[in-house]
Amino acid sequence: MRGSFSVTVDIEDWYHIPSVCSSPYAVYRTVNEFFDKWGDRYDYLTEPTKRSLDILDEFNITATFFVVADIVEHYPGLVESIAERGHEIACHGLHHACKIDPETKERLMSNEEFEQKTLLAKKILEKVSGEKVVGYRAPNAFVGGWMLDSLENIGFKYDSSVSVNSLYNKTDSSLKTVSSFPYYPIEKGLEVGDDRNFIEFPWAYYQNVLKIPASGGPILRFLGAPLVLNGLIQSLKRGHTIFYFHPIDISCTKFPSVGNNRPFYWCMKGKLVEHRIRHVLKSMSDVKKVCLRDYQEDKL
Ligand SMILES: [Zn+2]
Repeated sequence: MRGSFSVTVDIEDWYHIPSVCSSPYAVYRTVNEFFDKWGDRYDYLTEPTKRSLDILDEFNITATFFVVADIVEHYPGLVESIAERGHEIACHGLHHACKIDPETKERLMSNEEFEQKTLLAKKILEKVSGEKVVGYRAPNAFVGGWMLDSLENIGFKYDSSVSVNSLYNKTDSSLKTVSSFPYYPIEKGLEVGDDRNFIEFPWAYYQNVLKIPASGGPILRFLGAPLVLNGLIQSLKRGHTIFYFHPIDISCTKFPSVGNNRPFYWCMKGKLVEHRIRHVLKSMSDVKKVCLRDYQEDKL
């Protein structure tokens, strides 16, 4: 295997997903509206995040944590505890709101609004971590090419949101030229372009007849570790690739039933998923891992 891979962790809670908050079909229009209704009964994230940090220590991994910036306000000390253990803090939006329409892929805001909100999120995360925040992951991985230009404008160095596969496309591009290894995106788009001061790190996939996403998250929960592992191994032959998981995926607590399809969405989580994450990391223990902030560009 010639590639290295990066372990990435998305820090969001149960209500950040689009059926509950911040999408055109959410129960609550905004996260603030959610907090008005839920008071102090919202935190299902702190405990599994602490366990995730212990798992990473156990495998000696420095990871990149894509953090929703409003976590800083509502979970005092949590993001600090991640940064103190040497992990990279990157940005997963201000409130985890979709930036493009999940159905039409049309933009839901102007570049100016996106830049203003994302810059605020970046500053909140920089203040709490004491480090420059240079990485971004689009909430729910709904990403448009125009967003990358804005990210570059406001000081980001990379994005890691693109998943090439045959099951779904959450972007506004066909991704015909994209694979599972890092590249310089074209301006105003997500296809592969020329040298640029901005990198996209797409996720791993497994290819047989179809391309199956194999980077973690729902695929790890519903389809299991062997598929993800085989996808990572295949992707590593193509170059550097990305693995990710959500701490809330290993929470053993039953989540509130709010939002469409929620009971189904969360039917696979907890110890089983923790076991699968450990299995993937153990099986990949000999493969080089690179924290995204330390990725050396000359490898592109
Ligand atoms: Zn997310």
